[in-house]
Amino acid sequence: MDPFVPKRGPRPVGQQLCAYTETGHEEDYCNKPGTWHVMWDGDLEHSFTCDQHMELILQRWMFDDRHPAVGDCGMPGALWEYKGKRCAFPAAQPVAVSEAALEVR
Ligand SMILES: [Zn+2]
Ligand SMILES: [Zn+2]
Repeated sequence: MDPFVPKRGPRPVGQQLCAYTETGHEEDYCNKPGTWHVMWDGDLEHSFTCDQHMELILQRWMFDDRHPAVGDCGMPGALWEYKGKRCAFPAAQPVAVSEAALEVR
């Protein structure tokens, strides 16, 4: 089985809904409120998932990092903070933490 999750099209900015779909079709997205923000790979491909589908992801796929979804997750300019385990805007962060962060597109 392919260890990498199937990629889907980009979702609207600021929308934190579970992007899991059994069929691969956009109209079949789970669309429950996303409780986890998952970074899939070094290309900064990321998406949100609900608790139920996080369980499935843990069983089936590899991912780079994850953290509980917060308000700044998925917003333009927000940085993925590996150390801080969240997304946040650079101005709100101490320098040491922002240096370990990557911009999420
Ligand atoms: Zn879901
Ligand atoms: Zn996030």
